[in-house]
Amino acid sequence: MKNFEALKHHLGQVSDLGGAASVLSWEQETYMPAKGAEHRADQMATLSLIHHQMATDPKIGVWLEELKPLEGEDTFEGAFVRVARRNYERETKFPAEFVEETSRAQNAAHHAWLEARKHSDFKHFEPHLEKMFELARRAADYLGFEDHPYDALLDLYEPGAKTAHIKSIFADLRDQTLPLLKAIQAKVAASGDVADYSLLSRKFPLEGQKTFGLKVAQRFGLEPEFARQDVSAHPFCTNFGYNDIRITTRFDEHFFPTSLFGTWHETGHGMYEHGVNPQYNRTPLAGGTSLGVHESQSRLFENLVGRSKAFWEFHFEDFKATFPEPMNGVTLDEFYKAINRVQADLIRVEADEVTYNFHVMLRFEIEVGLLEGSIQVKDLPEIWNAKMQDYLGVVPPSDALGVLQDVHWSAGLIGYFATYSLGNLLSVQLYNAAQLELGNLHDQYRKGELAPTVEWMRKNVHQHGSRYLPHEIAQMATGKPLGAADYVKYLKEKYSEIYGLEGI
Ligand code: ZN
Repeated sequence: MKNFEALKHHLGQVSDLGGAASVLSWEQETYMPAKGAEHRADQMATLSLIHHQMATDPKIGVWLEELKPLEGEDTFEGAFVRVARRNYERETKFPAEFVEETSRAQNAAHHAWLEARKHSDFKHFEPHLEKMFELARRAADYLGFEDHPYDALLDLYEPGAKTAHIKSIFADLRDQTLPLLKAIQAKVAASGDVADYSLLSRKFPLEGQKTFGLKVAQRFGLEPEFARQDVSAHPFCTNFGYNDIRITTRFDEHFFPTSLFGTWHETGHGMYEHGVNPQYNRTPLAGGTSLGVHESQSRLFENLVGRSKAFWEFHFEDFKATFPEPMNGVTLDEFYKAINRVQADLIRVEADEVTYNFHVMLRFEIEVGLLEGSIQVKDLPEIWNAKMQDYLGVVPPSDALGVLQDVHWSAGLIGYFATYSLGNLLSVQLYNAAQLELGNLHDQYRKGELAPTVEWMRKNVHQHGSRYLPHEIAQMATGKPLGAADYVKYLKEKYSEIYGLEGI
């Protein structure tokens, strides 16, 4: 079909521009000298302008109209046209003035947030946050929605997700895991810690952290011929095609979990991108289908595999040999309990498997409330602290450690947080589905066999790229819609054992 080829050629070039911009931004975070920022900002703005012009070229609209009959097909071409239309409509729905106003407001909000966080001064950020939510409400109107304005924002990160569905999943998750957290806290209060956590802050030489982290990443399938790891202040994964995966990590000599679990987390993201059907390269179908599905893969590698006892039964001797001094006299059991410490704390990014989702629920509830108008920006510090008290039993001593801790809102990323928890839930649902087909996965991890898990994910998730929506992936790969049940069961079993709880 001639028009299809024309569209494919054009969007291939759009994809090339996106890839080039990603190279520049990866380099900015890893190697660029500080003063390079002034040149880089110009270069990236120019590339982004050309990218936007090409991605919104009216001839795309004409081609898409002619190719509409293909959209119902479950074929490469059908999926291509469906996703291309979604992207095109998204790019063209906002008037140019709105895009410019947003970009200016984000810039100002980001600077104000940095200042506000530094001095723990919410008042300084407040008018900017008002503005970001006003823009979010207008964005939802431009994008359009059926049931709830928040659906329009969610859709940017988790296509097809609905506010009502997430509310009900989160309610389930909250009702079932809050008693677990309270039981753990009560047990620790009554009988003390179950492990010596000072192990975590001992000195683990950086070279060993790097070698060990990458050795395991390679067992997950991450090979130097298509991937590399570098250092950045905030770890991330990016790619410029399925055969050029870049992960970054942060190293802390006195807290090895940061680099170790961080490396495997980013490896999960990287293997997803690498596993997409090569035919989708340079098309709208390349790349993971959503942030939530992406996070299911990173959490799988980081937690379900990397923090499992079975995994460490195989890797423990090697780890001890790599770090003979800090690991001297440490048993496998002590180590396992230390890396799975449950601790209600203030900061989301450092949260464990049990408390993490409460940090997310709190943000989700606040975002929905602000969008609906049922809560006001000026009351946020108070609301934040009250929710922290309800969920985790801790109250931030300052707004810097509370409502001001995340960069997201200052960057206009509203509708994003929920995807972290959706990813957690999906990771266990996928794991269970894989286990049904492959047999006991822990038995495999005990022998160091990680490949079958990764291959199953490739077959059922990775290869599809963006061809299917997240809820379609959940249904196809696990045989049921995404829910909280599998995750709740996983948490209860794992942490009852670690903390010696009964009747949970
Ligand atoms: Zn991630």
